Amino acid sequence: MLNNINNVFKGSVFQTKEYGTLEYLDNILILVDNKGIIKNVIEKENEYYKPIIEEATNKNILVELSESQYFLPGFIDLHIHAPQWPQAGIALDDSLDVWLNECTFPLEAKYSDVNFAQKVYDDLVKNLVARGTTTAMYFATVHHNSSLELVKSCINNGQRGFVGKVVMDNVEMTPDYYRDNSTNEALLDTEKFIQDVIKLGENVLQGVYPVVTPRFIPSCTDEALYGLGKIVKKYDAYVQSHCSECDWEHNYVKSRLGMTDTQALNKFGLLGEKSVMAHCNFLNEGDGEIFNQTGTSIAHCPISNSYFANAVLPVKRLKKQGVNIGLGTDISGGFSPSLYDNIKQVVISSRMLEDGVDSNISNTNRGVNDSRTSVVEAFYLATKGGGDALKLPLGIIEEGYICDLQVIDINASKSKLPNFNIFNDKKHLLEKILYLSTINNIKQVWIQGKLVYENN
Ligand SMILES: [Zn+2]
Repeated sequence: MLNNINNVFKGSVFQTKEYGTLEYLDNILILVDNKGIIKNVIEKENEYYKPIIEEATNKNILVELSESQYFLPGFIDLHIHAPQWPQAGIALDDSLDVWLNECTFPLEAKYSDVNFAQKVYDDLVKNLVARGTTTAMYFATVHHNSSLELVKSCINNGQRGFVGKVVMDNVEMTPDYYRDNSTNEALLDTEKFIQDVIKLGENVLQGVYPVVTPRFIPSCTDEALYGLGKIVKKYDAYVQSHCSECDWEHNYVKSRLGMTDTQALNKFGLLGEKSVMAHCNFLNEGDGEIFNQTGTSIAHCPISNSYFANAVLPVKRLKKQGVNIGLGTDISGGFSPSLYDNIKQVVISSRMLEDGVDSNISNTNRGVNDSRTSVVEAFYLATKGGGDALKLPLGIIEEGYICDLQVIDINASKSKLPNFNIFNDKKHLLEKILYLSTINNIKQVWIQGKLVYENN
């Protein structure tokens, strides 16, 4: 019965297949093959349930959760600046100008040193995996070799990684000591990076993928942006950038190009099925339509937005329009490597958008009506929304999907969640897990059917 099955997982699952709808699967069996793909999901009522447990026990391939443990799908972080990990939590009280020019750019310039890169990247990937992030989309720096180190860190730690060598060639908007040497070199380096990542990933089960990465329109010349658009087409590559993040950026693009970020990125050939754009706080209805037509997704970064975006992403409005949205930590504009923290902030920010924040304004005019996002909706963004953004079968436990799991223990010795047999409904239990779990509650992380992390 279990031919070609590598593992049988037995336990209860929380997941959300449809935006806003929570699903709880009680003590199911998840059958996973040697490629890490879910071959079957067996419910308790199924006649083969007991025989499968028996056979899996005999073959020593049963992974059984205890009563206080639950499976969640692995989280998908769509926006991380890996080189900024040493800056996490730093200078967030300063202006964007100080944050960027005194901290970020000097820090990113240090990644000309491959050994430094290797040390930071390995530490970051380990930290993300330990927080249940099984797939991550990263900006590296302009440096070719050290950006490859990030790919290697993903491979070595078993994480599914999407990595971009950053392009920033506009001499007017980048510091002398940190930019591409020329437009032509930036384009050649991008192609070489794509080829090298494809080679590195040839035998990597969980996959590593190159991403075309213009930092954002201000830091790139039109020539570079057009050139990158052509490279995207040639390699059918993933693309990431920032789009309409804050007032300054949004207005800069309008005055330089006479159109919105979205229109400009589309004109350059950078929007498509495999495009993920960070922030997008200032998208208008027409921009949302372009996202829909091209299949582009948003990486919502709610913690970072609270510091630097001057606005809250209107998640509810964009979801109603049909735009796909996933979540990003945006290290280090966001201080936290945890998508749990960002799930909470999705909800909190949406409430502030709905209610408004200035008590001098009457409550009828203070906020934007009908803007709330629920915690179950935010959970969707961190899982299925991310999978859809990457166009991969990720984010839910279902036949044909990739088996990425976190094992959550609500009775973890250093972080026991309050459970006094009062709020026993499953939705309350998930809410408790999402709001109160710490790194101590994440006992195991499995990526593509392989155990990559264990917290004993
Ligand atoms: Zn960013």
